[in-house]
Amino acid sequence: MAMQKTLKKYFKLSGITLHSGEISNIKVNPAPANTGILFKRTDLKVPHIESLINAKIENVVNSELCTKLSNKYGHAVSTIEHLMSAFHGLEIDNAIIEVDKAELPILDGSSLEYVLEIERVGINNLQTPRKIINITRPIILRNNDSYIKVTPANSMTINYTIVYDHKLINEQNFIFDLDSKCSYRNIISNSRTFGFKDEVEFLKDKGLIAGGSLENAIVLDNDGIMNQSVLRHDDEFVRHKVLDFIGDIYLIGHRVSGNFEIFKGGHRLTHELIKSIMSDRSNWKYDDDKASLEELTFSTLNHKKELSASL
Ligand SMILES: [Zn+2]
Repeated sequence: MAMQKTLKKYFKLSGITLHSGEISNIKVNPAPANTGILFKRTDLKVPHIESLINAKIENVVNSELCTKLSNKYGHAVSTIEHLMSAFHGLEIDNAIIEVDKAELPILDGSSLEYVLEIERVGINNLQTPRKIINITRPIILRNNDSYIKVTPANSMTINYTIVYDHKLINEQNFIFDLDSKCSYRNIISNSRTFGFKDEVEFLKDKGLIAGGSLENAIVLDNDGIMNQSVLRHDDEFVRHKVLDFIGDIYLIGHRVSGNFEIFKGGHRLTHELIKSIMSDRSNWKYDDDKASLEELTFSTLNHKKELSASL
């Protein structure tokens, strides 16, 4: 049985935030087993308990441009999806993130800096087993021509397709097995967020991406990309969508076993899927559920009977 993990030591990062354009300073700390991923707003003059924001689906609000969490006291932290993705990708179950703004830094628009810092400080195995959520039946959600679907499986696989009317994208598909030895670090973590010139100018004018620049996003115009740097992968766009999905799905609060198929998805659709999964207890079970142990014992007994019958 796999054990829960945390960091060996803390690390700090600072940088501009995408939406508010402020400098945000974070300190990512190790945490005991069963803490989960917990944010603490250090800039608020409120009692400790009110400054804590759990990275769980029940705290997700307003998920159009990023993933934002808010606790029951109304204290929020946003643009958490890339850090969540690094935690999920590197199997960090527990961490406490101190942050002095209402938003995390955007860094280079990918999760690479988080991954490098986690690798630098190291990962610590805790003495408590990890609980994994196993999907027990198919669930599909549709929104116009977009859909997201999950079916039962022994590990987490992601099959993501995006479609954009742009010569560098058109249709891109990427399949990734999060639980195999193929590396989140090398395959997913350096893929940057992206936007289209018209949309970026519109959001800039509205003050919604005050910190956005060619340093932290790929920007596409009719000719190609406006950045000086080249693409890190030809299919960097769909890989970034996989990166976001890995971060967003972790808001379920555990690792999940299931095959996920996403067509033209986004933050909101992933959040809605988590809510659908959790809305009915028969949609999922823990891998160590008493019920599943009984099922296992039962099937082993049957298997033994079949074996002895065939002998
Ligand atoms: Zn993203």
